[in-house]
Amino acid sequence: MTDKSNRTPSLVTRVTQALHFVEAETGAVIPSIQPAATYARDENYQVRKPYWYRRDGSQTTAQAEAVIAELEGAKESLLFASGMSACTAVIEHLPTGAHVVAPRVMYHGVLAQIQNYEANGRIEVSYYTAGNLDELAAAVRPGKTNLVWVETPNNPDWEVTDIAGAAEIAHGAGAKLLTDCTGTPPNLTRALDFGADISFHSATKYLNGHSDVTAGVLSVRETGQFWDEICMVRKLQGTVLHSFDAWLLIRGMRTLFLRVERSCQNAIAVAKHFDGHPHVEKVLYPGLPSDPGHEVAKKQTGGQFGGMMSIIVKGSETTAIDVTRFCEVFYPATSLGGVESLIEHRKTVSGEGFPVHPRLLRLSIGIEDADDLIYDLEQALTRANS
Ligand SMILES: *Cc1c(COP(=O)(O)O)cnc(C)c1O
Repeated sequence: MTDKSNRTPSLVTRVTQALHFVEAETGAVIPSIQPAATYARDENYQVRKPYWYRRDGSQTTAQAEAVIAELEGAKESLLFASGMSACTAVIEHLPTGAHVVAPRVMYHGVLAQIQNYEANGRIEVSYYTAGNLDELAAAVRPGKTNLVWVETPNNPDWEVTDIAGAAEIAHGAGAKLLTDCTGTPPNLTRALDFGADISFHSATKYLNGHSDVTAGVLSVRETGQFWDEICMVRKLQGTVLHSFDAWLLIRGMRTLFLRVERSCQNAIAVAKHFDGHPHVEKVLYPGLPSDPGHEVAKKQTGGQFGGMMSIIVKGSETTAIDVTRFCEVFYPATSLGGVESLIEHRKTVSGEGFPVHPRLLRLSIGIEDADDLIYDLEQALTRANS
């Protein structure tokens, strides 16, 4: 028997093999699903470690968390039953009267939740324009702000915020920085490396990638009291990700790098084709060199720009809705980050009162044939304008 080599396989290999998973008892290369809600105590009536009741996690959920922690370069990752329950755990752990700084335009569910806590007097919130660090700096209160929330690129405008710059501002004020980089998963943006304290992702999106799981994950560089409190919220609310869903998520993550690479290639092709198109007023995509966030995005996403974009069509709001109705390849559905491409009229989905352009169509570019996607949008735009 020769000695093992010292070479550590790359992150792509480690994630594709779910950390070179081999089940100890059987040699299986795929983890089993452990659905038990409870675990028997040992012969001395001691609780077995580390699992004793599923509201506190399971082997399968922990295996998915280990893969995400590897992707994020995190000390620990914690999986929730949805992205929203992960975000809510962070907001919920804040002390009453905490000051939060958040973008004016962000994922509508998170904004609604922040506004609920604000309306109930639980937290105070100051808002800034996504991507604008001067406004962010003016919004923090040194020594008072507890949490700075950055969503980059933000949904549905895909404005890019400089994470390292935001971290400097947050830390200078004694606040923690949370990033939501759901639009560019950790194989593109490792937010903790840029200075985020908590990296959040809706794992419903790219991490799982197959539109068959809802999940959310928080990852941290350092643990501590705040992390213990967030873990306690999950345990007491019972918002842990179910074992079956964790298993699907592990399966999805094995192809993360391949899927995202293809989505990025398709997205560039679609964005370039429709940039300057006679029926399109504007393409919002950081991958276009003319986009205001292009340079920062390049630094933060390793030269790929993700599969999310929006187009603002010419004509009326009805024209925009018609485009979604006339698509035959894009699905007229919400969500993002799956292998199939989706189109949505964002104003219809986020509802009245949310700041979104009435002619904005959000596109989640999947891994299909790019020419099919371009042809589909072309024919839908033509029909909507005739
Ligand atoms: C989808 C999404 C969320 C919420 O996650 P769910 O899994 O749908 O609960 C939060 N932030 C962003 C940017 C999202 O796209």
